[in-house]
Amino acid sequence: MIDFNRPAFVGKEIEYIQDVISRGKLCGDGEYTRKCTEWIKNQFHAGGVLLTTSCTHALEMAAFLADIQPGDEVILPSYTFVSTGDAFVLRGARLVFVDIRPDTMNIDEKLIEAAVTPRTKAIVVVHYAGVSCEMDEIMKIAEKYGLKVIEDAAQGVDAFYKGRALGTIGDFGCYSFHETKNYTMGEGGALLFQDKKYQEQAEILREKGTDRSKFFRGQVDKYTWVGYGSSYLPSEMNAAYLYAQLEEREKIFNKRMQIYQFYHENLKSLEEKGMIERPYVPPSAEHNAHMYYIKVKNMEVRGQLIAYLKSKGILSVFHYIPLHTSPAGKRFGRFFGEDVYTTKESERLLRLPMFYNLPMEQVDYIVQQTLKFPQFC
Ligand SMILES: *Cc1c(COP(=O)(O)O)cnc(C)c1O
Repeated sequence: MIDFNRPAFVGKEIEYIQDVISRGKLCGDGEYTRKCTEWIKNQFHAGGVLLTTSCTHALEMAAFLADIQPGDEVILPSYTFVSTGDAFVLRGARLVFVDIRPDTMNIDEKLIEAAVTPRTKAIVVVHYAGVSCEMDEIMKIAEKYGLKVIEDAAQGVDAFYKGRALGTIGDFGCYSFHETKNYTMGEGGALLFQDKKYQEQAEILREKGTDRSKFFRGQVDKYTWVGYGSSYLPSEMNAAYLYAQLEEREKIFNKRMQIYQFYHENLKSLEEKGMIERPYVPPSAEHNAHMYYIKVKNMEVRGQLIAYLKSKGILSVFHYIPLHTSPAGKRFGRFFGEDVYTTKESERLLRLPMFYNLPMEQVDYIVQQTLKFPQFC
């Protein structure tokens, strides 16, 4: 069976985890957390970076720091993972779902302004498949109405918009290092912000509401409870795994890109025959080969293709069930305007296996089997 995903493993992870154990300190904010944080900061030119226990938690931190209050409205796409909504619901926000663009599956920047009301507090964008949203237009709307912009860049680590790293364009950026993402630590993430004024409040929030980070830097002589907080810092063992991956960024990136290109070139004939659509990357975006998806005619064909590939030993998956159609989505939000593409396009989308340690012979096999799918012939 060819798995849909396997967490990347590049080699030095075990050595670094052993190093953590021999140092005798497993809790957060040690040497490897510092190394990962510096690496992300330098590589992507972020004002501030804090390693977190997940992207979901980074989103929760962003919602808190953006001062989302009960009754505030937050604009976001419905075609996304539940965490994009959850983090804001936790603060009492109402979700206002806006339709996506069929070409990138990202929020349609042209529909956002009409969804703004006097209660709107923030726009949450999702860079689907590591392909950037149209950030210039979105930042302009945010500026005009005084809204915060939060980038769910869970899939967008090491991807760019007009030369700027995703996650560093809005007020806050949220990364995921979950095992299904390009670079991983099992479970983990990072919160990025551009304005350094958030540093102290973010550190307090992440350390149970205490000024412990200041204490460790010697800025105060004892630490104390100074505000609301939770525990959003990952263990050093996880950070050690991640650092081994970040050091090999290029290797992981190149391999994923090789797989992406192979799919893209070899499935072109199916697009020319009108059987599928392949992903589109706008000129403003440099993606990171986070995923390879195809869109087939409809949900029925998709189901048949998944079953067919499974019979050939290949696991393919689909997502997302649009949030506005789920029980919680109905309770916590509403769809703005008409759902022209969100449901229709989500039902056609199928993701093919994509991970660092996937051998190219297997990618070739997946392509050959896909080309032979009876409905495509
Ligand atoms: C993976 C993902 C998340 C959640 O990331 P975790 O690190 O597992 O919390 C959030 N949003 C999107 C778009 C994702 O793909």
